[in-house]
Amino acid sequence: MASKACMLAVVAATGLLGLAAGQPSSSDGRLDQALRALWDEQFSAAQELAQDLAQSDAPDGARAWVIVAAARQRLGRHDDAAQAYRQFLAVCQDSGEKQYALRQIELCRQSSQPAPAAQAPSQGLSQEELARLAEVQEQISIETTEHFVVRAPNSALAKLVARQSESALAHICRDLLGEPDYPHSVEIFIWADQSAYRANAPGPSDQWAGGSFTLRQDQGRTIRRIDLMQLGQDRKFDAAMIDRVLPHEMCHLVLVEFFGQAHCPLALSEGLAMAAEPVANKANIVLAGAALAGQKKISLHDMLAARCCDAGNAAVFYAESYSLVNYLQCRLAPEAFKEMLQQLKAGCCLEEALQRAVCMPAEEGFLDRLGAAWENDAIRNAQFIQALETRSAL
Ligand SMILES: [Zn+2]
Repeated sequence: MASKACMLAVVAATGLLGLAAGQPSSSDGRLDQALRALWDEQFSAAQELAQDLAQSDAPDGARAWVIVAAARQRLGRHDDAAQAYRQFLAVCQDSGEKQYALRQIELCRQSSQPAPAAQAPSQGLSQEELARLAEVQEQISIETTEHFVVRAPNSALAKLVARQSESALAHICRDLLGEPDYPHSVEIFIWADQSAYRANAPGPSDQWAGGSFTLRQDQGRTIRRIDLMQLGQDRKFDAAMIDRVLPHEMCHLVLVEFFGQAHCPLALSEGLAMAAEPVANKANIVLAGAALAGQKKISLHDMLAARCCDAGNAAVFYAESYSLVNYLQCRLAPEAFKEMLQQLKAGCCLEEALQRAVCMPAEEGFLDRLGAAWENDAIRNAQFIQALETRSAL
């Protein structure tokens, strides 16, 4: 029988990676080979190897169905993947593994149905509403909700930002971090334009997002604050403020308290802040893939060591940060992703946090393999988007 540790790794392989090296196997190393192919993102090869094994007489061959299933899932063959998970269900004894397979079957079912495209919050606004949101009135409007006190140059804007703030906060706390309670109040100041922002906002603008957050102590009280800009250079309402800047800065604010004294690599914090934005950032996916395939690449080691980035490589750093967090979110089940963050919060480095989140024994060279798998995936995703865009331009 495959050892428990090996089986855990098989299950983990569907989320992130393979293989506890050197585990004894009764399948002549074929299980390990299939897992290795899965880890190297050679999904067709992994599928074939594992299917041969699953249909063979090897004593633990039938358990290879989980690799067949995972490989098919990654190839986008969701119905076939569900079929393989059912084969796996028929042979697995462990209740945790059964639950895992059942959850994956449900995910396959959901993936085989077209998901509604994510929409930016500003997409639903009419021209009249956009014009109203751009009004700069002398009287500041204040809107208060459970977690926010919003001050804005008009009441429609104060109401909209208050509503979007509650929904962004719920997404960040519940979906990204797995900590739904946020027992704090945040002040949000919206300044009409850049000069008002510069004159009043306490912190420097976030290089990427164009807003800022503040977390500081003032006479025994904790001040939580976000500063934003209402108008773009063209003096029209800047829709990016609610679509991107607000969720981005809020995520930073929440993360600083979430991690407390623990170190969160800058790349992870920026990647998470961008992942909090409701719509996928295709430009960043393309830029990350191009950088990782070429001269401007920042390696995973350098990404995790970076404490700041200079103007020369900032765009690539942010794009790769986004790509890395996307990669981890796609490879890990949501619970495992949250567990990884909890392990980081407890003081682990990313390598340790990931291994603990997927119940893997520590393995030498893990980070290098993770880096290589992420790079391959990022390059492929970028090529995929470019191919789609080329096709739709024809
Ligand atoms: Zn940021």
